[in-house]
Amino acid sequence: MNPNKSDALLRLDRTHLWHPYASMTRPPPVNLAVSASGTRIRLADGRELIDAISSWWCLCHGHNPPKIVEAVRAQAEKLSQVMFAGFTHEPAIRLAEKLVRKTPKGLNKVFFADSGSVCVECAAKMAIQYQIAAGRRGRKHLASVRGGYHGDTAGAMALSDPEGMHEMFRGILPKHHFAPRPETPFDGEWDPADFAPMKQLLERKSRDIAAVILEPVFQGANGMRFYHPQYLRELRAECDRHGILLILDEIATGFGRTGKFFAMEHAGIAPDILCVGKGLTGGAITLAAVIASETVAETISGTAPGKFMHGPTFMANPLACAAGCASLDLFDEYDWVGRVESIQNQLRRELEPLRALPNVKDIRVLGAIGVVELRKTPPPETIQEIVLETGVWLRPFESWLYTMPPFITAPDEVAAITGAMRKMALRYH
Ligand SMILES: *Cc1c(COP(=O)(O)O)cnc(C)c1O
Repeated sequence: MNPNKSDALLRLDRTHLWHPYASMTRPPPVNLAVSASGTRIRLADGRELIDAISSWWCLCHGHNPPKIVEAVRAQAEKLSQVMFAGFTHEPAIRLAEKLVRKTPKGLNKVFFADSGSVCVECAAKMAIQYQIAAGRRGRKHLASVRGGYHGDTAGAMALSDPEGMHEMFRGILPKHHFAPRPETPFDGEWDPADFAPMKQLLERKSRDIAAVILEPVFQGANGMRFYHPQYLRELRAECDRHGILLILDEIATGFGRTGKFFAMEHAGIAPDILCVGKGLTGGAITLAAVIASETVAETISGTAPGKFMHGPTFMANPLACAAGCASLDLFDEYDWVGRVESIQNQLRRELEPLRALPNVKDIRVLGAIGVVELRKTPPPETIQEIVLETGVWLRPFESWLYTMPPFITAPDEVAAITGAMRKMALRYH
């Protein structure tokens, strides 16, 4: 792009645009992207960046896989939007069918929403409505663990870590119950004491709690930590004992990220309500889904008012559903399990040695997720400098320097990513 044009665009950006988690008047640096394919994002000045975080964890097969592009193009020519009340369409039907084939038995009633946060709101409403329909009207709250993240809308903030990024809003949000975060590492030796506080909470407050919501195995945006799958098995059993529903938020972990198609497969359990988003369309367009068990759907539907009271304008948007179908088909067309495993092994090999650096507090790797927890966080300007120096797009979140590359990332690109992470860990100490 002509430098005058890109400068003008960036000036307009600074004048009018608010970026995520940023100041409007003192914005952090931004890069002007013009196109992308595979693992690479191309900038206006012709440079390319390796997308080491799958553009916020959603582009599992990389940017613009031809099959997804073609599916969206073909769908746009036929039907790009139609209201989902009073209408249905093939992309939604096919996507629901494909999704249900991937979920555990009995989890087969799909409600589409337009983003992850909205889908968490829907799941919480479903759980509360289920308890009302089941005759347990007093159960108006949810429980969760500290260190979780479920989205930025009010209902989802209220379920996220109370001391996490939304702390400022704590006073105006509905109150829920929180147990300490699970501490036993993913492959550590299970410590039964780890589950005791949650067990006590559910026993003491069972008549107040409609559901427990948490991210299975990997806590994302508020912790970047992996925990032991046994926690989930204990939780499943305890929820059943008290008639409490289990909601699993697989918005970040679903679609292969941790090495299994869903992270709950590490524990061999199924929730009553499952939230998926991010990778659902292969990251091409925003779409999320709440997948409820037959029991939840039948109880809500069988008791007055008999309806689930939610209906986003763009519910089950045909373009997004077409992208979702193409993305799920792609999972059957290449050895994503093998790719994720080899990314995992390489991340372990190349990140472990960073443990010795003075600014590194911890290294954690599972599937296509690698986390370097720093002691001191480099400022945005330093990060931008290293991004442009190395050609690797990384965006540390507080002290968590992490990578979640697309599954198609080649070994030499993974090496470039871990090299850039090393640079960032070294630059500040
Ligand atoms: C990203 C995320 C959300 C929110 O999804 P949005 O599409 O950003 O609203 C919710 N839960 C988890 C676990 C996430 O990672």
